[in-house]
Amino acid sequence: FGRLASGLKRSSDNLASSITSVFTKRKLDAAMLDELEDVLIQADLGVDTAMAITETLRRDRFDKDVTDEDVRAVLAAEVEKVLAPVATPLAIDAGKRPFVILMIGVNGSGKTTTIGKLAQKLTAEGKSVMLAAGDTFRAAAIEQLQVWGQRTGAPVIAKPAGADASGLAFDAVTQAKAEGRDVLIIDTAGRLQNRDELMNELEKVIRVIKKVEPEAPHATLLTLDATTGQNALKQVEIFGQRAGVTGLVMTKLDGTARGGILVAIAQKFGLPVHFIGVGEGVADLEPFEASDFAKAIAG
Ligand code: GDP
Repeated sequence: FGRLASGLKRSSDNLASSITSVFTKRKLDAAMLDELEDVLIQADLGVDTAMAITETLRRDRFDKDVTDEDVRAVLAAEVEKVLAPVATPLAIDAGKRPFVILMIGVNGSGKTTTIGKLAQKLTAEGKSVMLAAGDTFRAAAIEQLQVWGQRTGAPVIAKPAGADASGLAFDAVTQAKAEGRDVLIIDTAGRLQNRDELMNELEKVIRVIKKVEPEAPHATLLTLDATTGQNALKQVEIFGQRAGVTGLVMTKLDGTARGGILVAIAQKFGLPVHFIGVGEGVADLEPFEASDFAKAIAG
C-alpha cells in the first residue's frame, strides 16, 4: 500500500488541493457541488462516478457543515464501490498446459516490462514459464524480452526482426506444449500508426494460436499506461473489439497525476483489473486492490 500511495501522490495531491479549494465555505450548497463535480471530472474519474459522488453528498449533507475530509471519505467510498467488482486476481488454470497469456497494448504502454515482471512472479510461484517475442516488428522489443528472459530464467522463443508474428506464436505454443510448460506469455506488436494492419495481425496471431490450442489464448491482457489519461478509454474499446480483452494491467501508476482514469475505465467497461505497475523494476507489479487504490487516490 505504501508504494501505491506514494505513486498516486500526484493524483491525490491534485484532487485534494482542488477539493480543499472548493470547500472554502462550510455549508454545502449547489455551487460547491457543481464545482466539485468539475474537479472530479478533470481528475479523469469519469462523469458517472463524479455524479455519483456529488449525488451522495447532496443527499446526505446538503446545507450541512462539510469539510474536505468528509468529501475525501465519500470519494474513497464511491471509488471503491466502482473498483471492487473489477479487482480480480489473474487465475492461472493449472489444467491448461500451457496456460497461454497474450499480452497486447500500444507501444510504450509497458507490455514487455509487464511480461518480465509477470514471468518473475510466476517463476517464484514454482511455475515453468516460457516467453515468446511476438513483437517481431521491432528488434529492440525482441532484445528487451530476451533480457527479461535471462533475468527471470524463462526461455524466450524469438526470431529475427521482420519475421511473421503468427508463425512465431505457432512455434511458441507448439514448443511450450511439447515441453509441458505451465505458462506461455506471448508479446505482441503495438504500433498504432497503422491500426488496421496491427489489428489484422493480432487476429491472425489468435487464429494461429487456436490451431495448436483451441481454447487459447486463455487470457488476453491489455496493458494501459496510466499517464495517457483519457486516451486509455479509446484503447480499451479498440483492442476489446478486435482482440477480445479478458483483463487489464494498468502501468506507470507511480508518479502520475492521472490515476483516476482507472475508475472511468472500470465504470465503462467492467473488465477485470488484475495488476498495476508501480515502477520499472522486476518487483514493481502488484495485484490490484480496490480499497488500497481508492484510499490512495482520495489522499
Ligand atoms: P511496450 O512497448 O508496451 O513493450 O512497453 P515497455 O515495456 O517497453 O515499457 C515502456 C517504458 O515504460 C519502459 O521504459 C519501461 O521501463 C517503462 N515502464 C513500464 N511499466 C512501468 C511502470 O509501472 N512504472 C514506470 N515508472 N515505468 C514503467
